Amino acid sequence: MKTPAEYLDSLRALKRDIYLFGERLENPVDHPLVKPSTNAIAMTYALAQDPEYHDLATATSSLTGQPINRFTHLHQSTDDLVKKVKLLRVLGQKTAVCFQRCVGWDAYNALDSVTFEMDQALGTEYHRRFRSFLRYVQENDLVCDGAMTDVKGDRSLPPSAQADPDLYLHIVDERKDGIVVRGAKAHQTGIVNSHEIIVMPTARLSEADADYAVSFAVPTDAPGITVILGRQSCDTRLLEEGDMDAGNPHFGGHEGLVIFDDVFVPWERVFMCREYQFAGLLVERFAAYHRQSYGGCKVGLGDVAIGAAALIAEYHGVERASHIREKLVEMVHLNETLYACGLACSWEGQSTASGTYLVNLLLANVTKQNVTRFPYEIGRLLEDIAGGILVTLPSEKDYRSPEVGPYIEKYLKAKADVPTEKRLRLLRFIENLTFGRAAISYRAESMHGAGSPQAQRIVIARQADFEGKKELVKKLAGI
Ligand code: SF4
Ligand code: FE
Repeated sequence: MKTPAEYLDSLRALKRDIYLFGERLENPVDHPLVKPSTNAIAMTYALAQDPEYHDLATATSSLTGQPINRFTHLHQSTDDLVKKVKLLRVLGQKTAVCFQRCVGWDAYNALDSVTFEMDQALGTEYHRRFRSFLRYVQENDLVCDGAMTDVKGDRSLPPSAQADPDLYLHIVDERKDGIVVRGAKAHQTGIVNSHEIIVMPTARLSEADADYAVSFAVPTDAPGITVILGRQSCDTRLLEEGDMDAGNPHFGGHEGLVIFDDVFVPWERVFMCREYQFAGLLVERFAAYHRQSYGGCKVGLGDVAIGAAALIAEYHGVERASHIREKLVEMVHLNETLYACGLACSWEGQSTASGTYLVNLLLANVTKQNVTRFPYEIGRLLEDIAGGILVTLPSEKDYRSPEVGPYIEKYLKAKADVPTEKRLRLLRFIENLTFGRAAISYRAESMHGAGSPQAQRIVIARQADFEGKKELVKKLAGI
C-alpha cells in the first residue's frame, strides 16, 4: 500500500492536460485550488497506515490474498458492505468534504458482477480482463475515477438521435488492437486525483444506441484526454492571505468536465463493447453502490455540521435554550436516520453470481432519496442556530487590520471567555459547509450525486412490489 507521500508523487508523475481559469496547469496536484481536494483523498491512504483504523481501512484481497487498501476491495460479505459505510463516515468526519475515492470503488464492484454475468450470457471474456485490471489497481494502490454521467444534450432524445453524436461517449472506430472513443463525461469527482478513469454508459440503451454501450479503463494521461476543472463557490478565497476566510482551508473536493477526443483503448482494457442489453444493469448496480456510499460519507459531514451547531450555540451562550437543544436533537435524528439506511442496505446485501456482494437495491435507493433531503434540513437548522452573522462577517484582512481589527475584536465577541477569533473561524467553517466550497459536497452533491432524486424514485417504484402488497390486503380483508 502507498503512503500519502508516495500517492502524491505518483500523481505528480502523470503528464496531463488539466485546465482551470483558461490555463493549462503545470502542476495541478499542488495548485492552491486543487490541493485541499488532494489532501482529502490522501486521507484514504493515511487511514490505511493508521493502526487504529486497520480493520476498517484495509482488507485482504479476494484476488491475491494480499493486504490492500479497502478502497480497492471487492465486497466479499455483508460485513464488508457495512465496513464500507463505517469507513466513509469516519472519512467524512475527518475531512468535512467529499474525499472522492468511492466512485472508482463502486465502479469496481459493479463491473465485477456485470462482466461475469455478461460472459455467462454471451461467451465474452470481459470478466477476466476486468479482474486483471483490478489486480493492477490493488497491487499499485491506485485511484480510479468512475465516469458515468454523459453531458446528454437534448434530454428528450436518445444518444444516437442527438444533433451532435458526441453528446454521449461512444465508439467511433474499432481496430484490430482496440477501440477509439469520443465524447465527454461531466461532474467527474476527483479526476485530478485519479490515476485511471473507468468509463461506463450513463443509461439503459437500445440496439440503435449500441455504439454508446461501452465500458473501459484508461490512464488519466492517455492521449486525447482533456480535463476542464469546475470552479466552486468562494474558491478564490484559497488564493488570499491567511486561512480564516477559506473556512475549511485544508480540505475540499473538485469536479471536472473530462473530454475524450478520439482516445484509443486496447482490447485488454475494454469491459463492454456494444452489449447494449447490459448497459442498464451496469448503471443500476453502480448507482446502487454509490447511493449506499452516501449513507456513510454524508453522515460524517452531518456529524461535523451538528458539532458546529453545538459549538456555536455554546460560544453564543444559548446552548441551554430549550429550542436549541430541540434543534440539535432533530439534527441527530435526521443524520442517524441516514446512517441507519446506509447500514440497512448493507446488511440486506446479497452475493451476486461472481461472488461479489451487492447492496439491497430498494434500501440503497431509499438511503439516497433521504440524502437528497436531510442534509438540507440539517444545514437549515445549522444556519438557524449560527445566526445572521454568518453572512455579514468582515474579512480576515479587516480582522488583522490595525485600524479596524480592534473594533471587530471588541464588538464581535460573544461570550467573554471565548476568544473572538475562535468564533470568527467557526462561523467561516459553517459558511463553507452551508454555502461555500464544502456545500458542493454537503448539499448539491447530496441532491444530484449518484443520480438526482427522480432516478431513485424510478428504482423505488420498480422494487416496491405493489402487487405483493395488494395481496397482503386482500388476504386480510377477505377479498
Ligand atoms: Fe465518496 Fe461521498 Fe464523495 Fe461520493 S460524495 S465520492 S460517496 S465522499
Ligand atoms: Fe459523489
